[in-house]
Amino acid sequence: LFSIFVGASLSSFPEIISQLQKTAGATERIQEILGETLEEEPSSGRPQLLDSGEVELRNVGFHYPSRADVRVLNDVSFIAKPGERIALVGPSGAGKSTVFSLLLGFYQAQQGDIFFDGKSFKDLSLADTRSSMGLVPQEVLLFGGSILENIGYGRPGASKEEIITAAKQANAHEFIANFPEAYETTVGPRGIKLSGGQRQRIAIARAILANPKILLLDEATSALDTASEKLVQEALSHLMHGRTSLIIAHRLSTVRDADRILVLQNGHIVESGTHDELMLRDGAYRILVETQLESTSTLADSQPAEV
Ligand code: ADP
Ligand code: MG
Repeated sequence: LFSIFVGASLSSFPEIISQLQKTAGATERIQEILGETLEEEPSSGRPQLLDSGEVELRNVGFHYPSRADVRVLNDVSFIAKPGERIALVGPSGAGKSTVFSLLLGFYQAQQGDIFFDGKSFKDLSLADTRSSMGLVPQEVLLFGGSILENIGYGRPGASKEEIITAAKQANAHEFIANFPEAYETTVGPRGIKLSGGQRQRIAIARAILANPKILLLDEATSALDTASEKLVQEALSHLMHGRTSLIIAHRLSTVRDADRILVLQNGHIVESGTHDELMLRDGAYRILVETQLESTSTLADSQPAEV
């Protein structure tokens, strides 16, 4: 859901998200919200984007303001070098999504600090850092409007050619071109119903268009059929190429490809390393692999076709 705002400078995401959820489908309303929020920004012109896209959490400790007694993250430290793929894994409730919320500036950590390109988050503008980040959420919701508009929100002012190029890289062009109205096809609550894999590829096209330095990817948990899965995976590798990627991973294939895997449990990083290193260690990661991570090969023939 957040990814529709990739590239736009916004100052109060949670409010926007809740408003959007109430008004999903009303394009005019979204434009109104975007307009309102953009007005709140200091008129400093174009956002100062990050140069290299390095991300560091240093001794981060966090509890939600509403629940001061529950420590959600404890002394969490890691560095994602520019272009690296870091997978976050761990049981439900471990704190994975909270890491994303802190990076997006929805909340501030009470302990430690977050750095982008070596600069403390506290010294950077929220609008600038957010403009450097793209989020591909687990469940992609499209707003009422054309496919062109839905992808185009990734970068306001993009030309139709640029939008089509992004759609091609996201493996979305072919199915879009097959609709009678192609890019003018209306999607969202009152429009044509797209499959989960198609919605994901629209969100990926949007993120490709936005061209962020840092990518936050919350991998979908719902299974796609093999053909759709392959198209989505290909689109994602286009998107991740050359960007710092943090991935909340649910698929074995994703963690195998990661440069580093961080295993979160109860708000602590309990293990970190590559798939092979962690399998040898025979600890928390190995248990996760054997019990929780989804092996796509087992899905191969069990799902109805959905491309
Ligand atoms: P994960 O993504 O690994 O499943 P989360 O980061 O969503 O875990 O949640 C970590 C912990 O924080 C959980 O105990 C969850 O109940 C709690 N939590 C998540 N969001 C909120 C919130 N908005 N307010 C209070 N507690 C929350
Ligand atoms: Mg989560």
